[in-house]
Amino acid sequence: MAWWLCSDTISHGAGWASELSGSDLAERFRSGDVRALARAITLVEKRDPSVRDLEAALKDPGQAYVVGFTGAPGTGKSTLVDALLTLLRKLDRSVAVIATDPNSPFTGGAILGDRIRMQRHALDPKVFIRSMGARGHLGGLSLAARQAVRFLGAFGFDPVILETVGVGQSELEVAAVADTTVVVLTPNLGDGVQMIKAGILEIADIFVVNKADLEGHHRAVTELRGMLSLSNPSGSRKAWRPPIIATSAARREGIDELWEAILAHRRHLESSGRAQELAQKRLRDETAEVAAEIARERVRAALAGDPDLVDRLLAEGTPYATAEEILDRTR
Ligand code: GDP
Repeated sequence: MAWWLCSDTISHGAGWASELSGSDLAERFRSGDVRALARAITLVEKRDPSVRDLEAALKDPGQAYVVGFTGAPGTGKSTLVDALLTLLRKLDRSVAVIATDPNSPFTGGAILGDRIRMQRHALDPKVFIRSMGARGHLGGLSLAARQAVRFLGAFGFDPVILETVGVGQSELEVAAVADTTVVVLTPNLGDGVQMIKAGILEIADIFVVNKADLEGHHRAVTELRGMLSLSNPSGSRKAWRPPIIATSAARREGIDELWEAILAHRRHLESSGRAQELAQKRLRDETAEVAAEIARERVRAALAGDPDLVDRLLAEGTPYATAEEILDRTR
């Protein structure tokens, strides 16, 4: 069975999994049935309210360590993640990868073409790979990713790797979900300049300059070091100076060093108390996002149920007052 297409509908037909809900699903999940995990993530993507019951039934949420990979397309993220997967499997870790693409209409496990190289891990039950599109997701990727990560942690995957495929806002969103954010650059620091503009440099806990086999690599590392010494890390992040790791993902070089750097950052977060702060902040953010989503859904339902409502209210008041009135009615 191809775990990398871990959709309950795509890889398993429209079988039992899509029928499952509530306590049956929780039981299958607890028994370690990967199809129940796939189903749970599909429910997360669909914003299905039954996610609430499943979360409650699982009780112990599990805490996967989340490593985010971000960087311009073509920098080698997918190749790098594939190499890291190989290393982690040698270390006998169960590892999950979520590839997020804000521009992709595909959800539910349809893996993107260029991720197919990860197929080598397809038959390994300790590897779970899934893509997540964001099109049509009101709350953006971060909420779905946060919830999916929680389910993956509860299932026993650690670490969970979040990889951005598209560019844009999703990079920042992924950083908000990850414990350690790895920003991937190449010797062509042209993409570095783009990243500075997009504020991506500030979110890095670790820099990777990939394609170390290409010319210009040393210069790129020196330039990056220069750029970083000019930037001023703020407040609580001061104690951690993001290291720059040189890798050649294609030649599988530098991957051990990258994993060591990730572990060092993890130790830093834990010993400084920052890990707990981050976990708490994530729960707060997630709660606020869920609340906003529920409110949006209620407003949508109220307007759909009474199409003239807005016009009637607007006849008597301003848009602001009308909006407040609508919100009051959704309670
Ligand atoms: P992504 O879009 O950031 O995920 O990048 P990919 O992993 O798809 O890689 C983009 C291209 O760069 C592919 O053709 C890879 O084979 C190539 N590539 C990845 N890592 C390296 C590397 O370390 N050295 C060289 N020379 N090419 C690489």
